[in-house]
Amino acid sequence: MTPRITAQHEDGQRIFHFADPEASLSGIIVVDSLALGPATGGCRFWHYDDGAAMLSDARRLARGMSYKNAMAGLPLGGGKSVIRRPEGAFDRTALFQAFGRVLQEIGGDYLAAEDVGTTPGDMEVVRAQTPFVFGLPAHGGRAGGDPSPWTALGVFLCIAHVCARHALPLSESRVAVQGLGHVGADLCRRLHAAGATLIVSDVQTEAVARLRAELPVQVMSPDEIHAADVDIFAPCALGGVLNQETIAHMRARFIVGAANNQLSTAEDAARLHARGILFVPDFVANAGGIINVAAEYLGHDEDTVRKAVARIPDRLADVLDRADATARPPAEVADAMARDVIADAAARIPGSGRQRPL
Ligand code: NAD
Repeated sequence: MTPRITAQHEDGQRIFHFADPEASLSGIIVVDSLALGPATGGCRFWHYDDGAAMLSDARRLARGMSYKNAMAGLPLGGGKSVIRRPEGAFDRTALFQAFGRVLQEIGGDYLAAEDVGTTPGDMEVVRAQTPFVFGLPAHGGRAGGDPSPWTALGVFLCIAHVCARHALPLSESRVAVQGLGHVGADLCRRLHAAGATLIVSDVQTEAVARLRAELPVQVMSPDEIHAADVDIFAPCALGGVLNQETIAHMRARFIVGAANNQLSTAEDAARLHARGILFVPDFVANAGGIINVAAEYLGHDEDTVRKAVARIPDRLADVLDRADATARPPAEVADAMARDVIADAAARIPGSGRQRPL
């Protein structure tokens, strides 16, 4: 069965709509930038209310991946795929096999890996159809496997950096973690081991129960966690959680988390700045996972990943120093830094002073 794929260009992005009704597959791949290398970003498997919501999510996530990969110094462009989670029963293997055929048809400008809703097992199913997928189970000290622990480590190191910068002992800190999935739960373990007090929340009661059985945590409702009386708010669920409404009620001094696209709009960075809340740009803090994916793509080992993830706080320090020196929100500074890296790479592409056409 050949999937149906249609492509369009919009604002410099190449957008592929794909469908294979027999496999219950439908979704979107967005190639945002190829200036630094193949457009790389996770595959999200999620419920969407409508096609417009799915498209805007994919486009914002793909742009975020371009910035994240550029800031992490990786030889990768930015892209993202989203697959609509079918209503009712479906054959998961058939669905991811069909997605693999889509990647194969597109031909390597986009490289997939896990994201929310997908697993290394799904990526193995995809790999049987195409080489253009990573995040496969790791073997013999090589990089690979679930990127989440690396993402959690990078976020933890950024929290530690922000605490040190503001003379707040991590062991005395109170942290609210929103979302107890692959990254959030692992982050909680690291924070607990460092002596932090944890307030947590998840929309899935089983996720809360699992963590509660493991660690001493205080639980808050998903509607209130953003307003918890804590030092640090760590969004590790979905995007858009920092908006006009939530920012007005926030009591944390610092926001450092794993979720992609935490700011609902660009103005929300200024809102946080005006309230004196330090927002660590998500794509700087959460690069650990893609660093692991890149190492798998490049054939590096786990030790290389560990060293690269340990350098994330140095990049954060650079962003925060520049933000302090210019009194600008760190998100604005980080966006500008990433755009510069991409523009420099695009200018070096032979035969054009601009990015290679998508
Ligand atoms: P996951 O699917 O394992 O976990 C997400 C958790 O958030 C789930 O338990 C879900 O129930 C919960 N959740 C959803 N909406 C919520 C809400 N409103 N309030 C509280 N909890 C809610 O996903 P993950 O892999 O842990 O990723 C978490 C976030 O980090 C995502 O935004 C993802 O894009 C981002 N991220 C993940 C990685 C990675 O390596 N996994 C890398 C970079 C960024």
